[in-house]
Amino acid sequence: MEQIEAIVIGAGPAGLMAASSLAAAGAKVVVVDSKPSVGRKFLMAGKSGLNLTKDEPIEEFLKVYGDARAWLEPMLRDFGPVQVQKWAQGLEQEVFTGSSGRVFPKAMKASPLLRNWMGELGHKGVEVRTRWRWQGWRRDALQFDTPDGERLISAKVTVLALGGASWSRLGSDGAWAEFLGVSLAPFKPANMGFLREWSKFMEPHFGAPVKPVKLTVGDLSVKGEFVLTARGIEGGAVYSISAALRDGGNLTLDLLPDMPLDDVITKLNRHRGKNSLTNHLRKVLGLKGVKAALLREVGSLPVTNTDLAKRIKSLPLRLSGPVPMDEAISTAGGVRQVAVTDTLMLKDRDGVFCAGEMLDWEAPTGGYLLTACLATGKRAGEGAAAYLKA
Ligand SMILES: Cc1cc2nc3c(=O)[nH]c(=O)nc-3n(C[C@H](O)[C@H](O)[C@H](O)COP(=O)(O)OP(=O)(O)OC[C@H]3O[C@@H](n4cnc5c(N)ncnc54)[C@H](O)[C@@H]3O)c2cc1C
Repeated sequence: MEQIEAIVIGAGPAGLMAASSLAAAGAKVVVVDSKPSVGRKFLMAGKSGLNLTKDEPIEEFLKVYGDARAWLEPMLRDFGPVQVQKWAQGLEQEVFTGSSGRVFPKAMKASPLLRNWMGELGHKGVEVRTRWRWQGWRRDALQFDTPDGERLISAKVTVLALGGASWSRLGSDGAWAEFLGVSLAPFKPANMGFLREWSKFMEPHFGAPVKPVKLTVGDLSVKGEFVLTARGIEGGAVYSISAALRDGGNLTLDLLPDMPLDDVITKLNRHRGKNSLTNHLRKVLGLKGVKAALLREVGSLPVTNTDLAKRIKSLPLRLSGPVPMDEAISTAGGVRQVAVTDTLMLKDRDGVFCAGEMLDWEAPTGGYLLTACLATGKRAGEGAAAYLKA
C-alpha cells in the first residue's frame, strides 16, 4: 500500500483549487482522476464561453444560492467574484465583464487557463495521475482501479471533488454516491431544458430563438431568450427558472415583455380591415414566426381582443418535465451541510474533505457554479492543510 500525505480525487475546478491550496501550504499532493485527462467538464464549460463569475456586489451574488446561502457565505466572502477575477489574472488570463455582468476570460475558452493552472501546480510539485478511478474504501485505504490494476493508497488527508451527476461522459457520473457511506440529498437536474411534445405546426420553428420573452414561474420572472427544440425548450432564460419549474411550478410566457397590456389591447383594437388575424398580429404587434406559432400552439385563440392580449402577455406553456439529468448543466443534491464541518471535512471520516458540485447546493448559470466550486475547493484544501499541521 502506498502512503502519501495528501490526495485530491477529482481534477475539476474544485479539486484543482483544493490541490493549489494544499500545495501552497507546503503539502505533498497527488491529484487523481478517472478520465484520461483533467478538467473535462471545465473545458466543456469553455466551449460556449467560460463564464467564470459575475461582477456584482457580494450581497447580490450570495442571493442566488437560496437555501445554501448561509452555508456558502463564508467561503464566497473569502473567494468570491473579485478573487476569482484576480486568480484568473494571476494565471495570465485577462478577463472582461460582459453587459450582463458576466465575467469571461478574454480567450473565452478554458484551455489556456487550465494549461497555465496545471503548469503552476506542476511547479509546486503536485503530481497528477489520470485513469485512476476511486472505488471507495477498503478499511481505511482508498481503493482505485488503475491501468495497472487495483491500487491502495493510505493518505493523511483526502479531498474528494468528484463533481455532480450530469455529463457522465466527462467524468462526473455520480457513481461515488454508492460508496461514499454518507446519507446524501438526492441528485436533481439543475440548469436544464424541459420537454414538450409539439404539434407538427411547430416543426418549422425548431432551432428558432424566442426573444425577447419573459418567463414566469410563481413569483420568479426572467426576461431573456430561449430556443425551441424538437423536444421542448432550452437555453439561458429557461435555466434561470429551471429549479422552480422542476419543483412543480408552471410556466407562463410574456411574448411582448416590452409592451404593457393596455398598449397590446389598444393595438389589437386598431381597424383590421380585410387582414387575416395572422397579418393583423404581425402588423400591429410585430408578432410573427415562432412567437405567433407559440400563441396558436397552446389552444384556440380567445375571441375578444382583451382576452387575446392577456394570452399574449401570459401564455401558459405546459411542459412534461426536465430533460434527462445527464444532460443538465449541473445537479443539485449530494453531500449535505450537516454531514461536514465548517472546513468541509466529513464528520464521519476524519481527514476526508469534500468540495465542488458534489456538495448539496445549486445555483443558476452566470458564473455562480464555477465560483462556488472554486470557493469550496479552496476551503476544503485549506481545511485539509490545517488538519495535516494539527
Ligand atoms: C456545457 C456546460 C457548460 C457550463 N458552463 C459553465 C459556465 O460557463 N460557468 C459556470 O460557472 N459553470 C458552468 N458549467 C458548470 C461547471 O462546469 C461545473 O459546475 C464544474 O465543472 C463542477 O466542478 P467540480 O470540480 O465540482 O466537478 P467536475 O468539474 O465535474 O470534476 C469532477 C472530476 O471528478 C472526476 N471523478 C468523478 N468520479 C471519480 C472517481 N470515482 N474517481 C476518480 N475521479 C472521479 C471526474 O472525472 C471529473 O474530472 C457548465 C457545465 C456544462 C456541462
